[in-house]
Amino acid sequence: MKFVYKYDKLIIISLTVALGLLLSMTNVLNQLLPEPTIGYQFKVDGEVWFVLDSKEEIHRMLEVYKSKYMKNIDENAQIRSISFEQDIEIIEIELDDEVLITVKEAEAMINENEIEADYYTVVSGDSFWMIAQNSKIPLSRLIELNPDMNPERIWPGNKILFEPADPKLDIIVRFQNTLIEPIEFATEYIQDNSLYASQRITTKAGVEGEERVTYDITMKNGYPTEVEVLQRETLLEPVTRIVKVGTKRTLTRSSRSNFGVVVGTLTSGFGYRRDPISGVRKFHNAIDVAAPRGTPVYAYTNGKVVTAGWGNMTGNYVVIDHGSGLRTKYLHLSSISVSVGQTVKVGQKIGGVGSTGYSTGNHLHFEVTKNGVAVNPLLYL
Ligand SMILES: [Zn+2]
Repeated sequence: MKFVYKYDKLIIISLTVALGLLLSMTNVLNQLLPEPTIGYQFKVDGEVWFVLDSKEEIHRMLEVYKSKYMKNIDENAQIRSISFEQDIEIIEIELDDEVLITVKEAEAMINENEIEADYYTVVSGDSFWMIAQNSKIPLSRLIELNPDMNPERIWPGNKILFEPADPKLDIIVRFQNTLIEPIEFATEYIQDNSLYASQRITTKAGVEGEERVTYDITMKNGYPTEVEVLQRETLLEPVTRIVKVGTKRTLTRSSRSNFGVVVGTLTSGFGYRRDPISGVRKFHNAIDVAAPRGTPVYAYTNGKVVTAGWGNMTGNYVVIDHGSGLRTKYLHLSSISVSVGQTVKVGQKIGGVGSTGYSTGNHLHFEVTKNGVAVNPLLYL
């Protein structure tokens, strides 16, 4: 029994010594071998694009890339999110025989396009309108794609963007922008037999109201894909204008949708308007009333047609002179049913609503000028 006990002890001792030796040997070996090198895999939708030795460099490149698509957005806008449409992962790995690429090469891969941008080169005799017709790209889209270009002044050699590049990494930006916009005032008419024909007397001035409008906008790769009104809040109620009218007929606005010269929906009023995307303030010298193609357009009052023709920006258009320095203009018509020199009666059909020229959809752009100066058409309707 005693012997067995001694024998067991001996085994334990020798095992302990062997283990100690083994441990010190692995320590020596570990010190001799180099530390494993770390790299970072850049994965897009599960597929490895490249391996780079710096995570910070990858993040920096992605930030630079995102900022490319933020340029046209109003600086006052509230950015809600900037994200990639693709699923992006940066994964730490131990390098074996993976090939590390340079920052420059990685940058080139991130900025690569699926489809390159398509440009058209202007040739002598071209007009923006003709280019739109021939390419079957709506004129409004061409203007949206080439914001720095003046459609009235293009020269041979100019490059017009037809289709923006489609990048491999798509950037989705969602933002909200709040603008203060005017509210048009209404007009109430009181018939007055004591007034001479066509006389109008404003007994109470109309005052525009004000509203705060919040837009929710989604952009993909720098171009809007969705523009929604999130909230409208009236800050100042408009004041109704009261006008006494004489007996001679003019086409007056009789409801929220009947503008006299056309029946439709007011999509843009007269005055300064800020573009919800760029925040740029532009003057709109007319009213826009949206209506289906072919909706009749009527002469505002008696007069003589001074223009009935075509302009690249105006499309088919008619100008009527009513005397006393008053003229009315009707733009983007699908058809014209009067000719230059013809006298027209109040309410006579002069054409149909259309979307010719620089127009984003079927609407009547109705302009009133008094001695050559644009005045608010709503004051005359
Ligand atoms: Zn307009």
